[in-house]
Amino acid sequence: MTPTQVDVLVIGAGPSGSVAAAYLHNQNIKVKVVEKNIFPRFVIGESLLPRCMEHFEETGLLDCLKQQDFEIKRGARFLRNGNAYSFDFAEKSTEGWNWTWQVPRADFDKTLTDELEKKGVDIEFNTEVIEVTFNEDGSSCTTVKTPEGTTETILAKFIIDSSGFGRVLPRLLDLDAPAQIPKHASIFTHVVDSKRPAGEEGTLITFDVVKDESWLWVIPFSNGITSLGYVGPTEDLEAFKGTPSERLQQMLALSSHYHDRFIDCEFIFEPIIIKNISKAVTQLYGKGFALTGNSAEFLDPVFSSGVTFATESGLLAAKLATRQLRGERINWQIEYADYIKNGVDVFATYVREWYTGNFQKIFFREQDNVQIKKQITSVLAGYVWDTSNPFVKKHHRIIKTLAKVVDIESDPHTS
Ligand code: FAD
Repeated sequence: MTPTQVDVLVIGAGPSGSVAAAYLHNQNIKVKVVEKNIFPRFVIGESLLPRCMEHFEETGLLDCLKQQDFEIKRGARFLRNGNAYSFDFAEKSTEGWNWTWQVPRADFDKTLTDELEKKGVDIEFNTEVIEVTFNEDGSSCTTVKTPEGTTETILAKFIIDSSGFGRVLPRLLDLDAPAQIPKHASIFTHVVDSKRPAGEEGTLITFDVVKDESWLWVIPFSNGITSLGYVGPTEDLEAFKGTPSERLQQMLALSSHYHDRFIDCEFIFEPIIIKNISKAVTQLYGKGFALTGNSAEFLDPVFSSGVTFATESGLLAAKLATRQLRGERINWQIEYADYIKNGVDVFATYVREWYTGNFQKIFFREQDNVQIKKQITSVLAGYVWDTSNPFVKKHHRIIKTLAKVVDIESDPHTS
């Protein structure tokens, strides 16, 4: 069979690949998407950040999402030992979106790909990339397994690898690097939320710290289903015994706030366990390709940054590939890798400091400072490239310093 020829091949039709493909198609670049699964398919990553709304808006994907009646997310709540820290995105210091959604990803991702197909983007589902070879000029030949079990080849001038945890090019080109965040694992499922309380309590996204480094997530959807998950050090998860369902029940029992609401809920599917969830790569691009979304980096679910990085990197890679195809010389190190890494580094600091306990000290101190809270809310909304925010610019030091101030304030000998 004659190989298909395209300008850009996008591997994977999650949010990263969808945003990339939408941009390329809008620019009249010949793009093809290959996706291993048939949609709708389950994937985790259900709590979004306001920043990603800009990416959907810019690529013409916002209206189809708005029609779906997903649960609006205006902020989030963290609980620990009966204390609560809530924030509202409307109170952030950086200009930008004040809300986003909390979504069942099967429906969300299907909405995106339906819209892409409506716009005329060529997407092959049930088609898995199994081999990629690059020529010296960066052009490539990709072998895919078709739904019929045969193989076909696709010739592309550029590849955007948005294959998520499939990590196609990192595996084929041996690009894996040690993870930024210590070894963490997660276990999660969906439940019919039959005891969901009325009002905000019923719909609020909450992260409930049940041990120093371990926490539960509660993500209610507009369809009456709620996502429940537990995240912590891998050895902590391994200390729970029994089937995945029995283990998640034991974890839910640790939450005084949620115990009664969820303890009798039937799990819609046997809880899924993922170990060592943080991923990193030695390089974010190479001649003829860029890695985006989870195929490149994943830190930790604690601040819900995954989808936002996926769409930020997918959109940027698509923009740079477009300029390159039009004959411009692109400095991928500066314009892509350094930019993405700057944002990832900011979030990595907050994730790390969450698990050292320093960030939790700031969250759960007795008195909030309004200006500090606004600036931290900007970070938590995904605005991690706003260097006018000291909590972005000085992220390496500022959380540690502030945590020391909280220690001094709460020391009875210094008051
Ligand atoms: P994906 O959405 O994973 O899409 C990749 C696609 O590539 C898939 O559809 C897959 O089928 C396809 N693919 C894979 N291999 C191949 C192949 N060989 N050929 C063709 N196609 C292929 N993020 C958040 O923003 N909020 C959260 O609350 C959140 N919670 C999380 C909780 C846990 C426990 C974990 C592990 C992650 C969480 N994340 C969260 C991260 C989130 O899951 C990802 O960041 C996000 O899904 C990345 O999107 P993506 O488009 O890069 O990849």
